[in-house]
Amino acid sequence: MTSPPVPVSPASSARPVGQSLLQIVPSTACVQCDVCCRFPERDSFLRPFFTGEEIQKAVRAGLAPGLFPTSEGAQIDLVPNPVGEGYLCPAFDPATSHCRIYDARPLDCRLYPFALMWDAERAHVVLGWDTKCPYMREAPPSLVDEAAGAVAQWIEQDERLATLARYPRLIGRFQDDVIPLRTLARVTERLQQGRRPLRRQALTVQDRGRLEAALAVNPAFQETPLAAASFAYHYLWRHRLTYTWAELEGHLCLFAESPDGIFLALPPLGEGPIEKPVTEAFRVMRECNGDSAVSRIDNVPEAYRPGLRALGYEVVEKEPDYLYAAADLVDLSGEAYRSPRAACNRFMREQGGVLEQYDPRDRTACLSLFQEWREQKQRMGPDAWADALLDDAAGAHETALSLPAELGLSGAVVRVGGRIRAYTLGLSLNHTVFCVLLEVADRDIVGAGAFVFREFCRQALAKGARWINTMDDSGLPGLAKAKHWYHPARLLPNYVVTESRR
Ligand code: SF4
Repeated sequence: MTSPPVPVSPASSARPVGQSLLQIVPSTACVQCDVCCRFPERDSFLRPFFTGEEIQKAVRAGLAPGLFPTSEGAQIDLVPNPVGEGYLCPAFDPATSHCRIYDARPLDCRLYPFALMWDAERAHVVLGWDTKCPYMREAPPSLVDEAAGAVAQWIEQDERLATLARYPRLIGRFQDDVIPLRTLARVTERLQQGRRPLRRQALTVQDRGRLEAALAVNPAFQETPLAAASFAYHYLWRHRLTYTWAELEGHLCLFAESPDGIFLALPPLGEGPIEKPVTEAFRVMRECNGDSAVSRIDNVPEAYRPGLRALGYEVVEKEPDYLYAAADLVDLSGEAYRSPRAACNRFMREQGGVLEQYDPRDRTACLSLFQEWREQKQRMGPDAWADALLDDAAGAHETALSLPAELGLSGAVVRVGGRIRAYTLGLSLNHTVFCVLLEVADRDIVGAGAFVFREFCRQALAKGARWINTMDDSGLPGLAKAKHWYHPARLLPNYVVTESRR
């Protein structure tokens, strides 16, 4: 990881002094620069990583312990920039452009504008310099090279090797705007000691068949699968997560990488017991994440819970998926469905809507409806969590609307006065379960959402679906209320599995 420090003492080059490391960039240059310690996104992978000891020091220097997700070594939580866009390290004082914990800042910051990262092949650890630093872009190459030599020597000392081995997340992933200067042979050797590096493949649209075949032979996902048991469910979020896959012990493992580290997005997929692939997957995650709690398996269905508990894993329930009888959603009969039925009737009476098949030529109109819908939601009141979800959702909608056929999605739109006022996309999880993945409707038109949902479910029922899965509620009370409005037949349990920390 890299993160920028704000030096208070000028130095002509980075020179080790005892346990310290003076900065190559003079403080006069730093206080005039607006790159350091500021980040465009709250979960930027560049936010500084603190080891356990560094967290203790930072807390003693005045930072709140709650700024660290775990006291055992973590990236710090950023805070919104009070005087501009983006986010700040909470130790940064925007009024003075100084670090409030300068003497206690972590190694990650002390190194900057140098950075430790894996090379593109993840074969060697390298020391590079970050081209985002304006001072370094102008610095004489001989000065940078001399400083890099000194830093490399300092980093390869036994004490630092032990720290890096204990906290491998201090080594960032490859960034093409960091210029490699030195290969760190001792660090590489130490990090790879006793390891069996796993070659993971980037997930592409061409892998859909491979993932679907692996899901199809997995008994735990067959009868009433979670929405996560599909290729599209994951691929839609590739703008937020980097997906890779690998075969482990004859099972396909789908890894997702967030700014915090890698985790398994689904349990290992394939025939036979998953004990061995689960063990191997946790080994791989530990090698990448160190002791971080980010190592986990998401979207584990009920069928695996007893076995994984018996093996000593922690199995914790997260928000369940909502499962409905398709016929109930289409008939909307009886007192229980009075409100959605009335909403549909009013929409048909006032707007006379008809459901049409989504055509990729509708993409631009749908994306502009998404923006309107997002603004309508924001006008309902501030909700930081919901806003963050909407930010994330924008990329997912864009991908789904751009690649419906490639992702195996079917979609529908509803026009009012010639303009698209609702759209939805979904896919069959198996012969009897259809999943509604995305739905957007103009909130100013009463019943538009209820209508597009009912008619889309009617299509699914006509194609043989007996059940409709509408995914989970993301912990949003408003969304949970809307999902309960339709009286789910079942809530499908969904678990997160971690290694026991006891
Ligand atoms: S700890 Fe200090 S130097 Fe490091 S990012 Fe935060 S403010 Fe900047």
